Amino acid sequence: MPAGAIVYDPAYRDHETGDHIESKSRIEAIMERIREDVRARRVQILEPFRAALDQVGANHDVQYIASVRRLAEAGGGWLDLDTYCSPKSYEVSLLAVGGVICAVDAVMADVHNVMAIVRPPGHHAVWNKAMGFCIFNNVACAAKYAISSKEIERVLIVDWDVHHGNGTQASFYGDSRVLYMSTHQRPFYPGTGDFEEVGSGEGEGFTVNLPLPPGVNDDGFFYAYDRLFIPIAQQFDPELTFVSAGQDIHYADPIGGMLATSNAFRGLTERVKSVTPQGQVIACLEGGYDLQALADSTLTICGSLFDFPTQVDEGHVNSGISKHVSDRVERAIKVQSKYWEV
Ligand SMILES: [Zn+2]
Repeated sequence: MPAGAIVYDPAYRDHETGDHIESKSRIEAIMERIREDVRARRVQILEPFRAALDQVGANHDVQYIASVRRLAEAGGGWLDLDTYCSPKSYEVSLLAVGGVICAVDAVMADVHNVMAIVRPPGHHAVWNKAMGFCIFNNVACAAKYAISSKEIERVLIVDWDVHHGNGTQASFYGDSRVLYMSTHQRPFYPGTGDFEEVGSGEGEGFTVNLPLPPGVNDDGFFYAYDRLFIPIAQQFDPELTFVSAGQDIHYADPIGGMLATSNAFRGLTERVKSVTPQGQVIACLEGGYDLQALADSTLTICGSLFDFPTQVDEGHVNSGISKHVSDRVERAIKVQSKYWEV
């Protein structure tokens, strides 16, 4: 079995956000948990490079990119109501994009799956602005890089963060080469991601949204994947798969209202791996704000990606599929049956 890899650089801590909930403590907690685990700490660490301007510019307005650089050089400030830019945030944001691009290079060579532990997160960042703690859209930039530089024709992006990845959806809304699938709490920030948002033009049918009520448990998420996401993904037959891995669907998360346990992330990752069995899966950190839950959940993702056992005992059992969830899945199936056999 070829080896997998983790992308990480201590410089990701230099996006200084003070007492903001999206802080460097998040990746410190993850890396500490990985170092504690005898199997996880053996996984090779890939050192990221800084993305080139044109690699970020493929997904972002050059004026916006320059404005982030200027704000950082001027000592920092707020890019939007909840996204802070510190003096080093511009460089770190380039390193976050570069980290996921470096993961693309790795899985297209001989690395079997990658976990990219990067920050700032990316899935809310749109063409010309920062949103929701995100400066540049790491996954969207890397997907565009894979298409333009690696001759990849079918990219799957699965987004299980509790928030809808509006930025990623917008990047590929008219593009049939990228299938974007998201479960998210709704109504919730940022307000997008309704059932009927299915893509437009050539991209119609290549956006799959499953807005969910709060309180979805492990079984509910598995059910959504088994009934909706995995059948569609199998028909799409991706050559490369990204996961926008936001662990803020964990029951302990202070922002999200979902009930997933840490072990659920292993089950979700297994399902994603099943549609990309050759090892071209890149899980990229997005949200997740309870430090212990984030660290444990990211460990179980790594266990799945890199084939070592994990079992987190949280003393928290939840099972059964509520009608609120199955009704929403049925509604999404109805919408998507126009494009896919579901
Ligand atoms: Zn989130």
